[in-house]
Amino acid sequence: MKLDILAFGAHPDDVELGCGATLAKEVSNGKKVGIIDLTRGELGTRGTAEIRDEEAFNAAKILGVSMRTNLKFADGFFVNDKQHQLAIIKMIRKYRPELILCNAIDDRHIDHGKGSKLVSDACFLSGLVKIETKDDGVIQEPWRPKQVYHYIQWKHIEPDVAVDVTGYIDKKMDAVLAYKTQFFDANSKEPQTPISSKNFTDSIIYRSRDLGRLIGVEHAEGFTVERYAAVDSLFDLK
Ligand SMILES: [Zn+2]
Repeated sequence: MKLDILAFGAHPDDVELGCGATLAKEVSNGKKVGIIDLTRGELGTRGTAEIRDEEAFNAAKILGVSMRTNLKFADGFFVNDKQHQLAIIKMIRKYRPELILCNAIDDRHIDHGKGSKLVSDACFLSGLVKIETKDDGVIQEPWRPKQVYHYIQWKHIEPDVAVDVTGYIDKKMDAVLAYKTQFFDANSKEPQTPISSKNFTDSIIYRSRDLGRLIGVEHAEGFTVERYAAVDSLFDLK
């Protein structure tokens, strides 16, 4: 299966929070979208890895993506080395996405910046013909995605590109809240975490509204780029 967009997240729920509305919009535009989680979020304070698997499955259904898989790297401890890069290269070569979306370049959770650099490095290496990988015993062709975009997470980072996601914020919130153990629930007996407050859930909406305001639409999601965003004509920008 060839994908148009492959979105990576260090933990199940990173993709939903960072770019869920963008993915829902592209799916509704007929694009083929996949999600790969690097870890099962097993160090998360609330819930368990098994519950997170189930929540991730439900969230993927809500977003309408074509595939979601988990590389089962060690939450908190995975590193950017050859073994981890090769596991990602195999996925990039298997699904041959035009675009990659991945974690914020810098963030509060150490896995986010680490995952961001790991996926970005793997995208470059995936294009090198002399790195040989196999899928089911068959040698894979090299593949380098056209662009790598980084979504924005906990910390404020100035976006280079803002996507108008008006009309898709409800679907994003449904996908985010499919992670029932992670976010605000007045009746939960689990310990509080930075993302389980009502303030955090509210912030997902007001941040998209604020970025939307700045570009003249209702809601937007922001991304940073790795190289200059190029257009044929200045009129191509909204
Ligand atoms: Zn995360």
